Amino acid sequence: MGRIRILPDPVANKIAAGEVVERPASVAKELLENSLDAGATALGIEVESGGKRLIRIIDDGCGMLRDDALLAFERHATSKLRDVKDLLSIATLGFRGEALPSIASVSRLLLETRSAEESTGTRIEIAGGKILRCEEAALGSGTTVAVRDLFYNVPARKKFLRTDQTELAHIASLVTHYSLAHPGKTFRLTSGASELLHVTPVGTLGERVYQVFGSQVLDDLVEIGVRERELASPPRSPAIAQYPDEGEEPGYRIFRLTGFFSRPQVQKANRNSIYIFVNGRLIRDRLLMHALSSAYHNLMPAAAYPFALLFLECGPEEVDVNVHPSKTEVRFRHGSFVHDFVRDTLRERLMESRPAPSFSPAARVSTPPLPTAQPYSGFSRMAGSEPPRAASPEPPAIGEVGSPPFTLRFVPAPVARLDFSAPALEIAPGPPPSGKLSRRLDLHGEFPPEAIPAPEMSLSVLSELRPLGQIHESFIIAAGRDGLWIIDQHVAHERILFEQVMKQRAAGGIEMQRLLMPLILQLTPEQQIDYARIAEELHGSGFETEPFGLRTIAVKAAPAAVAPTELEKILFEILEIGEAELRGVSLSDLRRHICASIACRAAIKINTRLDSAKMEWLLRSLAATDCPMSCPHGRPIAMHYSTREILKAFHRI
Ligand code: ADP
Ligand code: MG
Repeated sequence: MGRIRILPDPVANKIAAGEVVERPASVAKELLENSLDAGATALGIEVESGGKRLIRIIDDGCGMLRDDALLAFERHATSKLRDVKDLLSIATLGFRGEALPSIASVSRLLLETRSAEESTGTRIEIAGGKILRCEEAALGSGTTVAVRDLFYNVPARKKFLRTDQTELAHIASLVTHYSLAHPGKTFRLTSGASELLHVTPVGTLGERVYQVFGSQVLDDLVEIGVRERELASPPRSPAIAQYPDEGEEPGYRIFRLTGFFSRPQVQKANRNSIYIFVNGRLIRDRLLMHALSSAYHNLMPAAAYPFALLFLECGPEEVDVNVHPSKTEVRFRHGSFVHDFVRDTLRERLMESRPAPSFSPAARVSTPPLPTAQPYSGFSRMAGSEPPRAASPEPPAIGEVGSPPFTLRFVPAPVARLDFSAPALEIAPGPPPSGKLSRRLDLHGEFPPEAIPAPEMSLSVLSELRPLGQIHESFIIAAGRDGLWIIDQHVAHERILFEQVMKQRAAGGIEMQRLLMPLILQLTPEQQIDYARIAEELHGSGFETEPFGLRTIAVKAAPAAVAPTELEKILFEILEIGEAELRGVSLSDLRRHICASIACRAAIKINTRLDSAKMEWLLRSLAATDCPMSCPHGRPIAMHYSTREILKAFHRI
């Protein structure tokens, strides 16, 4: 008796319908999920041309009976669901019965399968949805599905596929995710002749994290252990009332959270390092994302993201997966309970696992726009957003700036924002001064009107600046022909180095230094792909790297400006740039990004004391750059208060 049946219309109509085949990775996802649902313990994924030419998934799962194998290609044919009630407690990854027919209609598909219950297997060949061949075959038990020439019969769709590298990276990321969710299974991903991932069964998630990401990543993570919370007396939620026969109140009340997440000093530029699984299903969920970011509230800048690998388990009745055809969105029956459970658990673990190395300038910040946005003791305290740092020295008093004839009162918020358009000195617009007022001012000393320079717009003034001192060893205060300047020393130096490095690059090469010992870096499968894509450009930018075993590279030389201690960070930062948003980026943009990363890592940090010779050198060099007003990431470098603004502030004009 076959296991697969066609869903009756009333059930089929309640399933979130839609196209599942968007790109090669979506095919790989459906096929992998089928293999996992079939109880496979070893999964092989072979890809050619980023999956466009071939995606083959080989599993050792339960296989299909002959009749079922044919039935599987009918719409709404599934062995995982029978009636509407089953939709309320889906324990498998698949349930729609649509993947195989959808994939078969836009490719040339070959299915080879044998159930342990039958002595011979079945081979079915389909092209564009038409069955070309169905025959008995001598096969081992398990299933192999080969999908060739995706969208060969839908040229309009084919046009939208990205480069082979990009499509391959999506597949690699997907396989990586599933390998993390199933540490006890073997996963092997190959692209042509190269092996991108091969992990053998291990006993714990920690060991799998080690296999996939290496010890460096593992060191920065906090393990959650097994944390549970019981839902006391659940109110009946209307969330899934759309199903008429809702049945009994479910018996499961325990929610369980396991996994790993990063300490606050690991800051990623995007969400790509956040993997959230609900009952073994990889999902993208705003509620859980929010719970995660609230756990880091006040511990990490809002624009940064952690690394997280979270597994939430609950009764299948507690979560509706039938929300979106790609099955990556879910709806919780008790959303706020789940949200608070996840937030509190992570928060507790963060507190328990202290002391974490906190926000020192040496903290691992892999986000290009963020290095100076790290919580910075002086300003963050003024802005009231960060707890004071125990280890940081007391910042000097604010008035201690050289010996200007006036005292500046800094208004916290605008200074912390470093916003060009909102000067930190508040200048109230008012009526022109009356004669009376002028006379009164005269008692305080005359300021000859001709001494008030016209507002100076030319940047050439930068070259004449006279440094007066630093604020918090981070910002240079300088007097100029027209008023006062505050210069962010890190971004100023970053701009100087960026232009230098770009010029060297254009002239044929960046000055390199050989490392005494090569630096060995372990890459994720995705990073491996990105590395292959940018290796040549890296080399041109002064990094001598070469492959060194499986997903490992050896760095033998690096740009002379970069300190060896920064090297690892900078390379991972560059690889992160290579990821997601910059896939398919032009060579010149990639080059700019690499040069910007080098400049950022090599530049003087904030919280660094500079003597006046260094400050002067910095200001002269800044004046000589092509674009002295903003750093390569677009942040402002200098703020200017004209003499006129100062006079107005003191009611002298
Ligand atoms: P769904 O997974 O939603 O049930 P699919 O179209 O993906 O729908 O698959 C249809 C059916 O084919 C599944 O319900 C399952 O019975 C069978 N099947 C698909 N792939 C495999 C596999 N790798 N091993 C065993 N059975 C499979
Ligand atoms: Mg399926």
